[in-house]
Amino acid sequence: MAGTADAALRARAHRVIPGGMYGHQRAGLFPENFPQYLSHGEGALIRDVDGREFVDLLCGYGPIVLGYQHPGVEAAAAAQRRQADCQNAPSARMVELAELLVDVVGHADWAYLAKNGTDATTTCLTIARAATGRSVVLVARGSYHGAAPWCTPGLAGVLPSDRAALRYFDYNDHASLRAAVDEAGDDLAGVIVTPFKHNDGEDQELVDPAFARELRQVCDARNAVLILDDVRCGFRLNFGGSWEPLGIQPDLSAWGKAVSNGYTVSAVLGVEALRDAATSIFSTGTYWFAAVPMAAAIATINAIRDEDGIARMERAGDLLRSGIVEQAGAHDLGISYTGPAQMPYFRFLADTGFERMTHFARVALDNGVYLHPRHNWFVSLSHTDEIVARALSGTEAAFRAVRAR
Ligand code: PMP
Repeated sequence: MAGTADAALRARAHRVIPGGMYGHQRAGLFPENFPQYLSHGEGALIRDVDGREFVDLLCGYGPIVLGYQHPGVEAAAAAQRRQADCQNAPSARMVELAELLVDVVGHADWAYLAKNGTDATTTCLTIARAATGRSVVLVARGSYHGAAPWCTPGLAGVLPSDRAALRYFDYNDHASLRAAVDEAGDDLAGVIVTPFKHNDGEDQELVDPAFARELRQVCDARNAVLILDDVRCGFRLNFGGSWEPLGIQPDLSAWGKAVSNGYTVSAVLGVEALRDAATSIFSTGTYWFAAVPMAAAIATINAIRDEDGIARMERAGDLLRSGIVEQAGAHDLGISYTGPAQMPYFRFLADTGFERMTHFARVALDNGVYLHPRHNWFVSLSHTDEIVARALSGTEAAFRAVRAR
């Protein structure tokens, strides 16, 4: 339950912020009375404004890959801040970060830096259209690529024309992909796809390698651009790009979140053949050249590599999964636990309206675990065995409460 400091901030917010909140917290996806305001983060722990501490299983929706207040990242950011952050022109950090990304990501010959994942996915579409002179982009139904009008679901204020040049296919469904390609005809500029299907409220599904291959073949056959949206999965599933282990390389990839452990940097990475198209577009922002987040990104990427980040997150995720699955079994509760270990999605079977899951999240919160009832979770390098054990003691209480209802 939210505490008194949180309640006071909510009341003030209602006077000066439309609806008192926007985004995920406003969209009714969280249980009522979840704390709306947080004050501290350190390692895998967060504190709300009422001083209560939680093991965080959401990691800022993904960016916190090393843990909050990682010493190396904070030192790099502080050192850069003493020199300069936002100025008229970029610093050397911009070139260093672009070099690092090009070095570690398999398909990348160049990097275009921005702020948010939405900037990166939107810029990918712009480059694909500039390169091909065509307009249609194929999108997997239900995928989230950011909060720009072209990629939001049919919400207030978004015109159908904002999405007019998109065609939809079902993830991992060959026939549906072919139908969308046929519909696009000669006007196919590209396909944008996430490394695995993580639609809100649905089981997560890794890409079928044959489907990934078909996406590559379709784009090659039509001279269209294959865009991998690695904003959520990048530097979490695999160090050099999420589809590298499949042997499939995109033409463009969009990055954000884990790139900079919570600082605001995103990136578009691309192949040589698209360098001219990337040069031809105009895409920028006042803060896009700020140096502090770039310094933080360089330190973050190096730390993920040097600290064996992907394997350690997988291990934490494996421990979490086996603990949750065992607890559910012991309480005789049917669950589905899908997705990669380090970014799992957990739900109860036959849970109409997320009623059970919401109760689970509330009780977990009261027992020191902050998790999202309807979104995939994330672990970080700070989720040690001890932290996972602490999380599991909270989920055990939550399972018990769900069972008792
Ligand atoms: N693509 C994917 C796959 C995402 O998960 C997100 C963010 N959840 C975005 C794009 C948009 O990123 P941002 O919120 O930083 O704009």
